[in-house]
Amino acid sequence: MRITNTLTGKKEEFIPLQSGVVKMYVCGPTVYDLVHVGNARPAVVFDVFRRYLEYRGYKVIMVQNFTDIDDKIINKANQLGVDPKTVADTFIVEYWRDAHALGIRPANYHPRTTDFVDDIVETIERLVEKGYAYQTKTGVYFDVRKFERYGELSKKKIEDLIAGARVEVDETKNFPLDFSLWKKARPGEPWWNSPWGEGRPGWHIECTVMSVKILGESFDIHAGGEDLIFPHHENEKAQAEALTGKVFARYWMHNGMVRLLGDKMSKSTGNIFTVREAVKKYGRDGLRYMILSKHYRSPMDFSEELLSKYSKATRRVWEILRRYESNGVDGIPKRNAVYEEYVSRFVEALDDDFNTPVATSLLFELARKLSKAMEENDAESALLFYHLIRREFGPVLGLFDLNEERKEVASEPLLGVLIEVRESLRKEKRYDLSDKIRDRLREIGVVLKDTPSGTEYSVE
Ligand SMILES: [Zn+2]
Repeated sequence: MRITNTLTGKKEEFIPLQSGVVKMYVCGPTVYDLVHVGNARPAVVFDVFRRYLEYRGYKVIMVQNFTDIDDKIINKANQLGVDPKTVADTFIVEYWRDAHALGIRPANYHPRTTDFVDDIVETIERLVEKGYAYQTKTGVYFDVRKFERYGELSKKKIEDLIAGARVEVDETKNFPLDFSLWKKARPGEPWWNSPWGEGRPGWHIECTVMSVKILGESFDIHAGGEDLIFPHHENEKAQAEALTGKVFARYWMHNGMVRLLGDKMSKSTGNIFTVREAVKKYGRDGLRYMILSKHYRSPMDFSEELLSKYSKATRRVWEILRRYESNGVDGIPKRNAVYEEYVSRFVEALDDDFNTPVATSLLFELARKLSKAMEENDAESALLFYHLIRREFGPVLGLFDLNEERKEVASEPLLGVLIEVRESLRKEKRYDLSDKIRDRLREIGVVLKDTPSGTEYSVE
């Protein structure tokens, strides 16, 4: 398997430290708001990457943190008039609701920063002892000029970083790029005790401490959005490697950013498209397919119109699958040459820097073949294609997954029948009945919209 390693800038053969075991750390959300589609991308991408590693026979140990203390959380708490812990607890619960709705499997560990404050303090003390950190009146800072390889991950020289980066403005620092390890508490802020007085951890040190503590000083993969390369990941790496003298993460994987198109969904208007809305309106498969149909390293455009298109494409596959399920024979097909050919195409795509666009397109190709095989009454081929979609590839991509999807879309064919009946009634001008169907559906949260090309529905 080959993956692009941000550290070397090259597509490299992936060889884990310990044969058969992959240890990976994915930077998780700062829990102060609902998850939006921009956060959904790394969640889906690395969920599927982990499923694929398991499909290839690796045992995966995956860690994803929750940043549960941060300026954003404190601000939100002040806005709402509650304490920061309440904000964090609330949005961790909301995160799980959305992750579940999106079909994201929980990682093996979900550490929270505030559970690791003692370890963080101890780590900062060691960095101070080793001469990599210093105290000022506002906190403790990492001295980036002491760490020779600073800039290695983001591939930038220190001078360029100063010019281009948004760095923490603090006149007490020795050097503009130095970043805080410990922030001394300002009035009204939550705090923990430390040798430098009451305060709280900086953002970067928490991931270093939690990853090293759980996965060890060196581990296989560190992942996240490309906006984290600098400063977050550069800083995590500097801290860890300054401390241990060992290579921290051996492979760094970064997903491209999501560009929200259109004013309606722009972040600045505060009307961001949440995962919750997206899944409710267009289904889990629609959003997952949209994300997986782009290579993870490319930028991805997002608009409601685009999502609607992807959602329709997944519904067409569902229609074929349902058609098969109502007539076809279930069972385990023979692992013949066609089966093997599909497996090798699937593996070849995903082994090549995790090419999910090619892997997902195989599902759609198989759906077309399934439809054709049913038309031709070719039961043996139909079973094979059905099996490949539902049991072989679907569970890896989290699309059309037999176990997870049944509940979500079970009502779709029924809705289709109701809409059809209502259209017939409208043609016969029996509006009393057609309106009754519309109103009753509205009551259970299904909104019908009559358009020139037919009736569309959305679920609220
Ligand atoms: Zn992190």
